[in-house]
Amino acid sequence: MAYTKKNRLTAEEYLAGILAGDRVILAMAITLVESQLEEDRTIAEAIIEQVSNRGEKSIRIGVTGVPGVGKSTFIESFGEYVISQNKKLSVLAIDPSSTKTGGSILGDKTRMENLAKNPNAFIRPSASRLALGGVTHKTREAVLLCEAAGFDVIIIETVGVGQSEVAVRELVDFSLLLMLAGAGDELQGIKKGIMEMADAIAITKADGDNVLMSEQAKKSYQNALHLFPVADNGWLPKVTTCSALKNEGMDEIWNMMLKFAGDMRSNGFWKENRNVQQLAWMHSAIEQSLRADFYNDKHVKSVLETIENQVQKGTQTAWSAAKQLLSLFYKK
Ligand code: GDP
Repeated sequence: MAYTKKNRLTAEEYLAGILAGDRVILAMAITLVESQLEEDRTIAEAIIEQVSNRGEKSIRIGVTGVPGVGKSTFIESFGEYVISQNKKLSVLAIDPSSTKTGGSILGDKTRMENLAKNPNAFIRPSASRLALGGVTHKTREAVLLCEAAGFDVIIIETVGVGQSEVAVRELVDFSLLLMLAGAGDELQGIKKGIMEMADAIAITKADGDNVLMSEQAKKSYQNALHLFPVADNGWLPKVTTCSALKNEGMDEIWNMMLKFAGDMRSNGFWKENRNVQQLAWMHSAIEQSLRADFYNDKHVKSVLETIENQVQKGTQTAWSAAKQLLSLFYKK
């Protein structure tokens, strides 16, 4: 099939390419679903409708941790291990920083270079920044597209800053929290909520002088997790240590995920979790669609900047400005 980056394909062409596992078309399709242009949205919706429910056998994994904890090094090492187990791996990133600073905490495309070269891997850097209305995360759609393209292990990477873990929880089957040992009192400064959301904690960089501290950290986290009530699905969060640099601990983490998948599939929580996520998706699809309609509206567009300036200068209140814009939108 002849295509260039700028060409927009038909929905059928995108679909054929995705189902054939063509990574270039997959990347183009993800760009398409992230677009807020009206004509792109129509094609994107047609594609998404066709690729839903192809991920029954996949495992969706959230990987979270503060900058520097070793996320990208871990994903590279873990990813290569998973691929060695005859899996196809896709890595998607949610980057919470981009709306405010225009910068990126997760960094640029040079991360995970080796994995990116692997034909059984597909790496998608963080969502592209869009104009007014902020970043539209279409990670859920990207997951479905990757699954349709034959990627059966999907990693969603995000920086642990609070809100992003909640967002990721709604997208994944299994949440892995990466932690560093030896940062003073292990449990200080860690929000209970963040730990509660993890199905496992992996202490990273457990190599060299850090081995002993990592083992101590593991015990502290295990003790702390024992104090939490058991989750409805019956899973007790696990704590492990690993070294991505030495490729150690990856088998243990992968086997733990397989055990989780097996347990949850047999007790019904796998399906239930995904069903609940569908509902969250419906609400987020409604919000995103309304938001796009609003910011694409020509009446809104014509005055938005002026009103924004007034609000920023304090000559109009935020509330009255919002009301004014919304009434322009609804009375069109
Ligand atoms: P991210 O910001 O969470 O993605 O962290 P990076 O993967 O970029 O790693 C941050 C730093 O920690 C880099 O200098 C890595 O080389 C180092 N690092 C990552 N994993 C390991 C590990 O397993 N052992 C050791 N000793 N260093 C590591």
